[in-house]
Amino acid sequence: SFNKIKMNLEIKGHVVIVTGGAKGIGESIVKGVAEEGGIPVIVNRPGPAGPALEKELSAQGADCLFIEAELAKVADCERVINTAVEKYGRIDALVNNAGKNDGVSLTKGSPEKFMKSLENNLLHYYTLAQLALPYLKKAKGSIVNISSKTAVTGQGGTSAYIAAKGAQLALTREWAVELINDSIRVNAILPAEVWTPLYENWINSLEDPEGTLKKITNQIPLEKRMTTSKEIADAALFLISARASHITGQHWYVDGGYTHLDRALGNINL
Ligand code: NAP
Repeated sequence: SFNKIKMNLEIKGHVVIVTGGAKGIGESIVKGVAEEGGIPVIVNRPGPAGPALEKELSAQGADCLFIEAELAKVADCERVINTAVEKYGRIDALVNNAGKNDGVSLTKGSPEKFMKSLENNLLHYYTLAQLALPYLKKAKGSIVNISSKTAVTGQGGTSAYIAAKGAQLALTREWAVELINDSIRVNAILPAEVWTPLYENWINSLEDPEGTLKKITNQIPLEKRMTTSKEIADAALFLISARASHITGQHWYVDGGYTHLDRALGNINL
């Protein structure tokens, strides 16, 4: 009957690998997966955040797993997939999210720093997709790549990160095509200004954190505020769900209109 109607994501029991899952956007995706009855696999660098999140979710009755990994290392990526499959025997979705805007610039960077940054920000998106593929095929699963609006607008001072973020968008289309006959869907989300530990650290490294934050939020058309990591997570959950069963190769801007809308008009009372 109508009073039972709800938008069932149908991810109950689905194993979802979330890289960088201990903090920020990844943490929100992990929590969202657990809330919907899925099984989040939290992949992150060593530190207290990952085990604490695993404990918190387990205490609430969720099935989940934390795997410590430095994703720049291919061997760690292999261990991640092997460990998840050993425990659960399946992978339904891969959310490639771990990354950092590390400021390797055209003028002050070097080819070595550029390549190192690609290892931190891009290589594991490819490696994990390749390693997860046999399982994603069995599950007719999906991949979500978390990119950044900087991939299409530029930012200045951060060539390597931008190269990684742009490549993630290109790979989203490339993999959507390559995996079309396997019914594996591949989509990307482009956050712009999202309040996370990464963002907080960045803003606090500036001369006038509060003033700069005010200037930035004033440019965000919808409600003049930061996007929350939960709002990014909601989009990711939808994209990995059965409700997005005919959506593939898409680049979704979850940014309160920041990238596309006319900011000048947004600042005038119409
Ligand atoms: P965050 O708060 O720093 O969280 C990212 C998590 O990923 C951290 O726990 C970090 O661990 C982990 N991580 C990063 N690189 C890793 C690696 N090589 N191996 C293992 N773990 C790694 O960042 P966030 O703001 O949520 O960002 C998540 C994604 O969104 C990134 O791809 C970022 O580029 C993208 N994004 C964010 C924004 C924004 O406004 N926040 C905007 C555009 C795009 P440690 O903390 O220990 O390093």
